[in-house]
Amino acid sequence: MSRQMTSLIIARVHELALKGQNRPFFKRALYENLRYALRDLPVSRLQERALRYIIRLEDSSVWPEVAERLRWVFGVANFSLGLETALTVEAMQQGLAELLERQGPPPGSFRIRVKRTNKAFPLTSPELERELGRFVQRRTGAPVNLTRPDVTYQVEVLYDRALVSGESLPGPGGLPMGVSGRVVALLSGGYDSPVAAYRLMKRGCFVTFVHFHAYPYVRPISIEKVVELARHLSRYQPPYNRLVIVPIGDAQREIALAAEASLRVVLYRRLMLRLATEIAREEGAGAIVTGESLGQVASQTLENMRAIGAVTDLPLLRPLVGNNKDEIIAEAVRIGTERVSRIPDDDCCTVFVPLHPATRVTTEQAEAAERAYDVAALVERCLARRTVYEGDPFRWDPLAALAAATA
Ligand code: ATP
Ligand code: MG
Repeated sequence: MSRQMTSLIIARVHELALKGQNRPFFKRALYENLRYALRDLPVSRLQERALRYIIRLEDSSVWPEVAERLRWVFGVANFSLGLETALTVEAMQQGLAELLERQGPPPGSFRIRVKRTNKAFPLTSPELERELGRFVQRRTGAPVNLTRPDVTYQVEVLYDRALVSGESLPGPGGLPMGVSGRVVALLSGGYDSPVAAYRLMKRGCFVTFVHFHAYPYVRPISIEKVVELARHLSRYQPPYNRLVIVPIGDAQREIALAAEASLRVVLYRRLMLRLATEIAREEGAGAIVTGESLGQVASQTLENMRAIGAVTDLPLLRPLVGNNKDEIIAEAVRIGTERVSRIPDDDCCTVFVPLHPATRVTTEQAEAAERAYDVAALVERCLARRTVYEGDPFRWDPLAALAAATA
């Protein structure tokens, strides 16, 4: 590659994602998040220009790695590989040649779109489009299609240089991580809850993961799964990772001894939600997220959701409420959590659970049942044995939570 060309990646933001008064704040957050995502790569400069972030690279061999990292930065709508070239037609052609070498010829038709900021450039935009179009055509044999091309190459003519960029690849979209504050996401180890947490991350929320388990009454697999899921999802929100693991097996046993069998599922969930509310306060989180979807299991009827939700004053966000399992699993595959969720485990709610849980428990019934035991004391005891993980999730040791559970 010739010396005068600088490799770069242009990351674009959807206009609407950055609207209104929050714009400078959003742009700043995305800038910081990009910096962090690329922190160990040879990036010579990161520049924000009119809804685009131009990432200049010391060499084009890191293109694939940068592209991989951008797939995890929310707020990036799409991005393309590009080159900064000298301000001559030959240099622009060289840039296009380099892109074609890297990305291959157009998979079908193509077009060139020129944006000429520098009106003093000798060729007009249509002239330059034709000139560069002929060049790509000669090189690849691909047909030009001005209305519905398979690939659009963009050439921007600036005052002292040109930017040539190729096929645009999809980013994760959404809002920049952090702009919407923090939520607590209840992570069970199943398919649904990681997808639910992802949805809120995509809306700009930092997530504190919370997991309840019944070890030593069940195997510790769910804890290992949740640590693994948190590791995976943490790619979206470095470096603010937090996971709280709370043993509730003893509390479940007490509830099982004190309350009628058919009510247990709702009572366990009320306990979980009370614990989550306390943790949310500690974490400064403004809402609780679950993977519930209407009608999926016994605890997820409207009546039971009401009886469960009654114990918290925080907004309960259920981003999957209208999705069915197939849709959720397809999304889990897309975001990469399915491979962990599919590992069989022992759900804490399956211990001490009756064959036929009630599907219509009223808040009054639940409250009456809770008079048979000391709810506040249970909450306090569970919280006293919680393990809080923070920082780099690849350093988190699941054994710490097991030790705390049996201490
Ligand atoms: P998932 O696939 O997420 O496990 P599910 O279909 O098994 O969901 P439930 O078991 O009824 O449904 O759980 C509903 C939601 O409650 C979960 O999505 C999760 O947010 C929360 N939840 C359930 N069990 C736990 C747990 N042990 N720890 C933390 N959260 C839990
Ligand atoms: Mg579950």
